[in-house]
This record gives sequence, structure tokens and C-alpha cells, in this order.
Amino acid sequence: MERIETRAVHGGERRPGPEGSVVYPIYQGTVYSVPADTDYHDIRYHRLNSTPSQHYLHDKLAALEGAEAALATASGMAAISTALHSVLRAGDHLLVGDCLYGGTHDLITRHAADFGWSYTFIDPNRPDTWAAARRPETRAVLVESITNPLVRVGRLPEVAEFARAEGLVSLIDNTFATPVNFRPIEAGFDLVLHSATKYLNGHSDLVAGAIIGRADHVERARTTANHLGGSLDPHAGFLLARGLKTLALRVRAQNANAQALAEHLAAHPAIAQTNHPGLASHPDHERAAELLNGCGGMLSFRPRGGEVAAAKLIEALQIPYDAPSLGGVESLITRPAATSHAGMDPADREALGITDDLVRVSVGVESADDLIDDFDRALRSC
Ligand SMILES: *Cc1c(COP(=O)(O)O)cnc(C)c1O
Repeated sequence: MERIETRAVHGGERRPGPEGSVVYPIYQGTVYSVPADTDYHDIRYHRLNSTPSQHYLHDKLAALEGAEAALATASGMAAISTALHSVLRAGDHLLVGDCLYGGTHDLITRHAADFGWSYTFIDPNRPDTWAAARRPETRAVLVESITNPLVRVGRLPEVAEFARAEGLVSLIDNTFATPVNFRPIEAGFDLVLHSATKYLNGHSDLVAGAIIGRADHVERARTTANHLGGSLDPHAGFLLARGLKTLALRVRAQNANAQALAEHLAAHPAIAQTNHPGLASHPDHERAAELLNGCGGMLSFRPRGGEVAAAKLIEALQIPYDAPSLGGVESLITRPAATSHAGMDPADREALGITDDLVRVSVGVESADDLIDDFDRALRSC
């Protein structure tokens, strides 16, 4: 198969495009005429995820992850909730990684009971504990490829292998790693989920999600999505397809910048702890080196001066915006306890290491030297 750079540019493209167009156009029409005997789910209608621009985007997303099929959704949470609803029925049990994106954590802990699902948290780093958590009614396992905000990397191929051996559907949120750094389908996962809002689009100007994987699983997810209604508008899909073309370039630059900034912060006297899988001090450094093509653009750290110093630093920085979200070309900085993980019980947060003084950086594609200079200057001032 072609390398990821080529796939990002050419994967899923129509050649020649309509009217010879090099860029696949937006088909904005809501509905298309179809033969009278067309199955409901094959009627061409935006909510049914069956219009030309949607098919094009689906093929592109599938090509990037090296998968059979893909479905774009209205947000990352729409992808996660739709995928879970397509896999789990009332009475089913889910194994879920214990360090989750805040929205996913809240969806499961606050709504699973409403849907009749039960769940057990598992440590993706401890395969010896998984069998004890499995129940007769367990249907699926959900983990994240690089976790937020401690950037842990679990025993991912073992998770997929465990699911296969136990007859479970394996799902993985690959938002943080992106297919540039990790391709879960090759590691044996059934379904890959993305907040395409982040790296896949890469420009902080839309909200979208994706469900990617085996054709039968994706088709089931599409039927569920068609009923739940969270389809992606073709206009946002067009911007996403455009963003995807530079994915490999952007993520490579972000990998390098995050590595440089992490190394600098780890050696800085005002910083107590720096988390990035590319640092030898990270607990999953060796696994990351083995599994990932790059360690990603996300890092987190704790300043020595605690929560007050963290707030002052964020204020004093000139390049990164003080904003949650991640994966765009611009660097963003945030305190997860106050933003992405604010909905979590403070004791649970603390137990996972998401302390009040923890600062998370989504490193952009600016000059690494300028970022380092900005952090040095800001750290001197607080
Ligand atoms: C942002 C994010 C989501 C949710 O995505 P939205 O597009 O905001 O709905 C899910 N998982 C991870 C890892 C994320 O970073």
C-alpha cells in the first residue's frame, strides 16, 4: 500500500474528478432522484450519509486508516456514541480504558445506565487484569491510542488480540495518534474512531467525527447513524477533505515540535514533571517507540509553583492560545482540570494524575525555537 503522505493526498480521490476537476466539489443538494425500488438507507439524502460528497469523504477516510469503509459524523462524540449504539444493546457490558477523553468518560458514566449498558474500567497497560473484568454479557472493548492528558500508550495490539480471542468488538479512539503515528486496523482493531475536529482537519475551523473499519461494522454504524441523525454536512466535509491532504506534513511537524518542547521543559528548573511518550522518563516510552511512528503533538507538564504558577504561565505565553481542543496548526494550551476534565469527579481526576496544576499543550506547526523562547520568557516572568 502507498505510504501515508501519498494516501493523504490521493487516497479516495476520483480520477478524473467530475468535469475533470482536480478537487472534489461540494454536492450541496439535500436529496437526489433514485429508482422507485431503492432501499431506504440507499436513498441519496444527507442524513442517510449517502450523497456524493459524503461517499468521497468516506473513501478518503478509509484509505487513510487502511480500512475497508468509513462514515463521517457531525462530531467526534457523534462518532463515539453512534459506534457504541451500533455495537451495544440493553443488557450488554463494555470494557473501557480507565483514562478517557472527558466527553467519552461523561457519556459512559452518566448515560450507560439509561441505555441499559454496564461497564468496567480496565487498565490498558495491564493485560493480566482484563480477563477478570470480562463478563458473559461483555460485547465490546473501547480504548484510546494515546490518552488525554497524560499521553499514556496502552498495550494496544494485546487489547485487539484479547477482544478477538474473547469474541468482542474492539474499538479505539485514534484522535491523538492519527493514522500518521498509529494505524489500529493493522494492529487488529475492528473500529477506529476519530474526533476529526482535531488533527484530521487540523485547522480548528470545523467539528466532525469518523467511524472507520471493517465494512460490516461500518454499515451497521451507518444504519444507527441514519436513525440517530448525526450526519456531517457536505460543506464541513469538504473542508475536512481539504485538511486531510496535509495531515502527514502537519503531524510530522507537530511530532518534532512536541519532542523539542518536551525535552526543553523536562530540563527546565521551573518544571516539576513533563509528560510526553518521546521522553525516556515517560512510563510508556519503550512501548511508544515500538508501536508508534511518532509520539504525537500533545504533551502535559506540572510547573513547580502549582496551580497558581500554571495559570500565570498560561497568561504570560504569547504564541499558544489559552483554549481547550487540540490538533490545529496553532499551539493551544489549557488546564485539563478546568476544561476537558472539569466534568469528572475531582477525586477520580486526582487518582488518574490529572492534578489541578497539570497543563496540557497541543503543539502546533510554528517554529520549535520560537515556542521554546516563548516558554522560557513566560516562565521567567512568573
Ligand atoms: C475532542 C475529542 C473527542 C470529541 O470530539 P468532538 O469533535 O469535540 O465531539 C473525542 N475523543 C478525543 C480523544 C478527543 O480529543
